[in-house]
Amino acid sequence: MVRAVYAPFFFIQAGEIQMSGQKKIINPSNGEVLAQLQLFSTQEAQRSIALARKAFDQGPWPRLSLAERKNFILKISQGILDKAGELAELESKNTGKPIKESTFMDIPSGAKAFEFIANNFENYLSEEAPELEAQAEARLLREPLGVVALIVPWNYPLLIACWKAASALAAGNTVILKPSSLTPLTALELEKIIHNSGVPDGVFSVINASGEAVGELLCSDKRIDMISFTGSNEVGRKIMEYSSRNVKKLIMELGGKSASIILSDADIETAVNGSLCSIFLNQGQMCTAMSRIFVQDKIYDKFLNDFVAKAKKIRLGDSLDHETQMGPLISEAQRKRVIDFVESAKKEGAVLICGGKAPEEAKFKNGFFFEPTVFANVLSGSRLFREEVFGPIAIINKFTSPEEAIELVNDSDFALAATIWTKDTKKAEELSGMLNAGTVWINTYGMFYNELPFGGFKQSGFGKELGKEGFLEYTRLKNIIIDKSDDGKPLVNYWYGG
Ligand code: NAD
Repeated sequence: MVRAVYAPFFFIQAGEIQMSGQKKIINPSNGEVLAQLQLFSTQEAQRSIALARKAFDQGPWPRLSLAERKNFILKISQGILDKAGELAELESKNTGKPIKESTFMDIPSGAKAFEFIANNFENYLSEEAPELEAQAEARLLREPLGVVALIVPWNYPLLIACWKAASALAAGNTVILKPSSLTPLTALELEKIIHNSGVPDGVFSVINASGEAVGELLCSDKRIDMISFTGSNEVGRKIMEYSSRNVKKLIMELGGKSASIILSDADIETAVNGSLCSIFLNQGQMCTAMSRIFVQDKIYDKFLNDFVAKAKKIRLGDSLDHETQMGPLISEAQRKRVIDFVESAKKEGAVLICGGKAPEEAKFKNGFFFEPTVFANVLSGSRLFREEVFGPIAIINKFTSPEEAIELVNDSDFALAATIWTKDTKKAEELSGMLNAGTVWINTYGMFYNELPFGGFKQSGFGKELGKEGFLEYTRLKNIIIDKSDDGKPLVNYWYGG
């Protein structure tokens, strides 16, 4: 189980950022303290960076054969599966996500990410060099980048860490993982699993510290070659600024204000059920949450009625209860943020159809619960329409023509994902081409495949996770050019040397 440390507060030395101290890890279902962890001191973080650098520059990891690395990656996958039940419980206790979600999605998908990469990275690494002029030959080499820092959010703490770590490690990098200080528990378990798989020292470590304390240090340290970040735009901008100081490779998986289009020929029941999932799964704390649902006028009333009737029946409860369909939000601060959006939406003229408040029953009083919420007639200039809530608030607005729907979806600074519900899949494919979104789901929601690259456009960030493209993000491409002429006439006619 989780290591709980009760060390005294660390005293800062001159010139240091204060980063150590005790951090209480809270169960958002009931407000109870799950663990009390000692945060990293600056020296400890520096030591982790130094060890990761040394393990890359001098250690065996980047120099192992692909088959040897594959074995380690498979062992990590199995290590996650061996502890799946324990990890699911820990993830649900720490994040508030229903145990069904962590048991059937987060944890097995995390293990699968390692297994998939283990079985495919060798193919992904092979590069064929183009043919050049006679006598010239080239090779293209895919190499690891070096030390990679993974900075991850609290909504899918283990899963996002696994997506990134699987590719980063398989490519031969050494890795530092910085989880959100709200949800470090499964990251610390992952660290144990990876160490138990036998990877050499320094290859993988977790820095458990707040982002404010350690972010600048990690992102501006020359010994780190790449930052792979998933999180908010606000923090993403800071990371870009810090890492610009010595020009690091970046992946930025940022926020979203994703949208669904429900065309009038859609199967309404499937579209309603899928749309409920697309905004209330994980309490709406998903980057790909379909927080704007646009429904064609002919079916608008029916869709809205059915959606709201079902939203009201969603079972809120403790994250460990197998009957729970929606748990609490991650923190009281997050709930305040959601309430703030409700207030501003009302002021801006949106119509509250259901929810909009914390549930009143006594059993919810110590947790950070919030009711599934629906607003209609939300103006496109309003804050609710434009900004990411990261909570269970759905906008359900009306449109007349598919062209109007495309305009509404694209009217956003974000461009992460979109969904189209219709029986005319050919039409949906045509519309997909007009959508600003890194992923378009047609008649489905939330399907992530290890084979397929995932990532957004515009302010949803850049770079990909998963798939060949996601794996290659963690490599660098070197070309080698060879003069093979053996007739005394080199490829370059040098004018030096007489
Ligand atoms: P956040 O940006 O607050 O935190 C993310 C990580 O950054 C945490 O580990 C945090 O400790 C760290 N951090 C905080 N300040 C930092 C700093 N100054 N320097 C470096 N690191 C710092 O995000 P969050 O609240 O944990 O997660 C919610 C956000 O994540 C939402 O905006 C959501 O859309 C986004 N998200 C995006 C995707 C995607 O794939 N696009 C997936 C999941 C979540």
